[in-house]
Amino acid sequence: MISADVIIIGGGIVGCSTAMNLSQYGKSVILLEKDVAGRQASGVNAGGVRQLFRDICEIPLSLASQKLWNQIDSLVSSDCGFRPCGQISLAENEKEMHDFEVRVELLKSMGYSHEKLVDKKQLKQIVPYVSSHCVGGLYCPEDGVADPYKTTRAFFNKAKQLGAQLFEFHPVSAIERTAKKWVAVAGSKRFSAPILVNCAGAWGGHIADMVGDHAPLSKMASVLTVTARTAKFLDPVVLLEGRKLSFKQMENGTVVIGGGFLAKMDIETEKPVIDFTELKTMAQTVIDLFPFLKQLQIVRSWPGIMGMMPDHIPVISPSENAKDVYHAFGFSGHGFQLGPIVGQIVSELILEGRSSLPIDSFLIDRFTEDK
Ligand SMILES: Cc1cc2nc3c(=O)[nH]c(=O)nc-3n(C[C@H](O)[C@H](O)[C@H](O)COP(=O)(O)OP(=O)(O)OC[C@H]3O[C@@H](n4cnc5c(N)ncnc54)[C@H](O)[C@@H]3O)c2cc1C
Repeated sequence: MISADVIIIGGGIVGCSTAMNLSQYGKSVILLEKDVAGRQASGVNAGGVRQLFRDICEIPLSLASQKLWNQIDSLVSSDCGFRPCGQISLAENEKEMHDFEVRVELLKSMGYSHEKLVDKKQLKQIVPYVSSHCVGGLYCPEDGVADPYKTTRAFFNKAKQLGAQLFEFHPVSAIERTAKKWVAVAGSKRFSAPILVNCAGAWGGHIADMVGDHAPLSKMASVLTVTARTAKFLDPVVLLEGRKLSFKQMENGTVVIGGGFLAKMDIETEKPVIDFTELKTMAQTVIDLFPFLKQLQIVRSWPGIMGMMPDHIPVISPSENAKDVYHAFGFSGHGFQLGPIVGQIVSELILEGRSSLPIDSFLIDRFTEDK
């Protein structure tokens, strides 16, 4: 039996960030990952570091996480490829622009000023080559982009350096309870600790079931596409208000396109298959916005598996039914930016029994019918 103070299941950015934070506070940590840490969503995502257009209840976490991104090198001894190039959501008509105005007023009434309205003239300065049908935007200049695999591995390496025991290729197949401890079974090995943390991403619902909790988590596969290199034409990440699109030019000139285009996925084998009708819609959206890219060649598309909650916000919560178990999963396609702060929040829950940031909206019991 291998023992520690805490067992973490899942080596994505959330699990690695939790392992790093707990190790920093002197806790002994075992992290169990079924594949390679960063193999799933955390290592293959679009790398968007975005406060823009967050669900209202995620804003305090997102703003706090941004402060950690701004000092990411001192946190994990790697720049994580983070570039604060800004993110902008575009309005293609007056109705969408009006929606932006309403949102900015709401945020202002709550004391937030990180999202800025941009008119047509300002938009042309920020995104000079965008189609002239766009009427304005909502802009967060502090936002940016990072290298997802480099980032997840940086948290993993930092946790290791601080003494965490990290086990890759160790799928947890069973969880048992003894008088005082949790035992996680992975292959022929058994691991024990008084505290268990579920950071299993799209598989978090399955781990929750194993300890007697329930969360209506579903799996979806979202696709990213990268093009051949082209001359520099874009600084910020571009999103759309009315259609699916996330669009960024990398420093090497390639363009990475995503924004929720889905692959078909065989739930049994978890093998996603690229849906070319979705890719056609994606290409048309890009051409509508940047017509001069019509001849740009697609080089590669790849899917990543996301854990989706019905209300599109994560579970960050002590267990409802099991003693000394904590959950942080179901980030519904936008958990990369939150990763640094969520590790801190889970550590606070374990060490102090409370979170310094509001997490009431993320509790797992929000799905309990007779609550
Ligand atoms: C294509 C795509 C683009 C995205 N773009 C962005 C973006 O631009 N910005 C953003 O903020 N977010 C983005 N996301 C979402 C983001 O990637 C995820 O929300 C985030 O990575 C979730 O991190 P995680 O650690 O919870 O999950 P994961 O990265 O999925 O990690 C969970 C880990 O648990 C492991 N695991 C599961 N079950 C077990 C078990 N039984 N035993 C051991 N290990 C287990 C898995 O192998 C996995 O490595 C995107 C996602 C996708 C798929």
